[in-house]
Amino acid sequence: MSKNYVVGFPRIGEERELKKVLELFWAGKTDFNEVEKVALELKIRHWNYQKNSGIDFISSNDFSLYDNVLDTAIMLGAIPQRFKDLENEELYFSMARGNKDAVAMEMTKWFNTNYHYIVPELSPTDNYVLNATKVLNEYKEAKALGIKTKINLIGPITFLGLSKRVDRGDTYELFGKILPIYEALLAEIAKLDDTVTVQIDEPIFVKGVEPKVLSLIKPCYDALCSVANNINIIVTTYFEHSNEATRVLVHTPVWGLGLDFNHGEKNTESLDLVANSGKKLIAGVVDGRNIWKNNITQTTELLETISKYVAKDNIIVSTSCSLLHTPFTLKYEEKMDTEIKSWLSYAVEKLEEISLVSKVFFKSIALLNTEETVAYKANIEANKTRKNSARIHNKAIQRKVANFTKLEREGTYEERIRIQKEILGYKDLATTTIGSFPQTSEIRKARADFKKSAISKETYEAKMKDYIDTCISFQEECGLEVLVHGEPERNDMVEYFGEQLDGYGFSQNGWVQSYGSRCVKPPFIYGDISRPKPMTIEWMTYAQSKTDHIMKGMLTGPVTILNWSFVRDDMPRGEVSKQIAIVLSDEVDDLQKAGIKMIQVDEAAFKEGYPLRLENIQAYEEWAVRDFKISVSTANKETQIHTHMCYSEFNDIIRTIEAMDADVISIETARSGNELLKIFKEVGYKQEVGPGVYDIHSPRIPSVEEIVEQIKLLLEVLPKEQLWINPDCGLKTRKWEEVKPSLENMVKAVKIVREKL
Ligand code: GLN
Ligand code: ZN
Repeated sequence: MSKNYVVGFPRIGEERELKKVLELFWAGKTDFNEVEKVALELKIRHWNYQKNSGIDFISSNDFSLYDNVLDTAIMLGAIPQRFKDLENEELYFSMARGNKDAVAMEMTKWFNTNYHYIVPELSPTDNYVLNATKVLNEYKEAKALGIKTKINLIGPITFLGLSKRVDRGDTYELFGKILPIYEALLAEIAKLDDTVTVQIDEPIFVKGVEPKVLSLIKPCYDALCSVANNINIIVTTYFEHSNEATRVLVHTPVWGLGLDFNHGEKNTESLDLVANSGKKLIAGVVDGRNIWKNNITQTTELLETISKYVAKDNIIVSTSCSLLHTPFTLKYEEKMDTEIKSWLSYAVEKLEEISLVSKVFFKSIALLNTEETVAYKANIEANKTRKNSARIHNKAIQRKVANFTKLEREGTYEERIRIQKEILGYKDLATTTIGSFPQTSEIRKARADFKKSAISKETYEAKMKDYIDTCISFQEECGLEVLVHGEPERNDMVEYFGEQLDGYGFSQNGWVQSYGSRCVKPPFIYGDISRPKPMTIEWMTYAQSKTDHIMKGMLTGPVTILNWSFVRDDMPRGEVSKQIAIVLSDEVDDLQKAGIKMIQVDEAAFKEGYPLRLENIQAYEEWAVRDFKISVSTANKETQIHTHMCYSEFNDIIRTIEAMDADVISIETARSGNELLKIFKEVGYKQEVGPGVYDIHSPRIPSVEEIVEQIKLLLEVLPKEQLWINPDCGLKTRKWEEVKPSLENMVKAVKIVREKL
């Protein structure tokens, strides 16, 4: 009897082989045969990893050359008009990345992860046709190795829910056109073998879908299950509970349900229904989204609870979601502290965990063989040291957090801004930038050289200071009013702070796919957070000493630090965030004591941390706002607090943004005229706002006239006293040739507008 299961496996390769070959191919340095060759090697290696770990349900079609939502669009023949003349890999990569004639399709975040998928573009005039090649081939490739896989598909309802319609219509209206393609696909799959298992991912169900969508579930799965009687269909959800959908699915002929019990604890509320339906329960109990070693005691307890409802025979032990969201293997972490490493588990190690958990659960501990007993004991031991380690649990920090009472700064906004305007003396429509200036290859090299001790601290600092000088002189010559130091010392806005905090860890090879060939290597928070010493004071005071203008201090906010790291799982996120906030409040205090008069606390990822379910939003907002306010609670009335957010849609969250109580917020509205700014006026938002006046995400240089027009649009919505003028994000990804004329034009535009006012 088969008893364990992996929802999906990462595909980029343990040495990022896929990334490397794709980038060579795109650069014209290798051909597509080579890409396919590497892809097949990776698939085989990944299947073998799973097979050798004793995994019963191994996936095919979880591989992708770029993205599996894009693969699904290709499978359905959902090709936007502008790519219609292309075929094969040219079509595929043009859809993903654009080509000289056609812009790429949009990309957005996969639920609340950092993985980005390609957003399908549908039109009511599309003619969908099945292209089953990839799905069938991958099955055959595995079968040739003697591995009978389950086939992973993205479900029709999720596919529609994640798509957009070019005519802005409702994507679900196209259900009737898409479903027959899935039926045709299943008919092909049925021919592959005597029985085939198909995992259909429907994560959209965890968002608590509306009745209209819910009403599609039964017709959809009744129809798909009736295509062939040799297919076992499993409907899989993850990242939250999906109780509304489960209540419907138990009345369809699906063979099994895959539920996430790590991130959707409430799935337990449906267990009696699942039990009564007699369906298989693919119980997601080994977390596929983090890097922590599974706690085998807790996991088997959870499984025992589940088995009070669902018969053991019907339970299959699984990862909570695809392992796509974890790094590959600990094998390459040669430099990591061995104790910390003993607490971690990446995808390959999670396979062993799944295998062990299922053995302990199904066989009982007494029947484990010697090797399994060793692994079991090692797991218990690792969890014990993690629970008690002084490197994680710091009494002094816990005491400081428990006694921390200063939750907000002094004075109302009105009071503060009056004092600030007087002391700081900046004009209406004050000009500034978001923080970073171009990261040149010389700067990157200097940082890398310093890291590997190829240059001395003195040389490194001299180079950085030189660059800060360059940034300052440019800003002064250009006529910008509030200056920044340019952030040359920062590789990444989270990593920079993580590296200076206790309780933070870094990996050598902890790459996770972000989109296409792009990977990120998030740092991880393993213990209580403290700041051994000030983190930005030296750079900031140096920068301030070089100019008479106001130099804006630059910090990353607690929520963004949290959202771009792997976070410890032994403490609620809100508590980890509070520790970071307290550390930042000390930094803010040090900055103002050192003479820094404006401090920007970036919350680039504030919005992306929002929970998937409506009912959890309030709790998130409460601690997220609390912790932003704690971070700046030390700021005197005279110290002006700025924040920056990398998005533009504030309609749903405007009251929350207001409640953060920053004196000035800069936002990313450059691409939407003044439309998205209107909400600030509608709700009577009082604080100052810097809506980006040009888009920094493109190399294009905006003209003076264009920026003048943009400022005029802004002035239609908010008064000049409330507006700042700035680009819509940091400039680090741009080149100086683009930045210089753009900012010069911005300053000229402000001058023109001011003269007319
Ligand atoms: N201060 C940061 C910068 O300018 C902000 C970047 C961001 O919000 N993504 O780079
Ligand atoms: Zn930004």
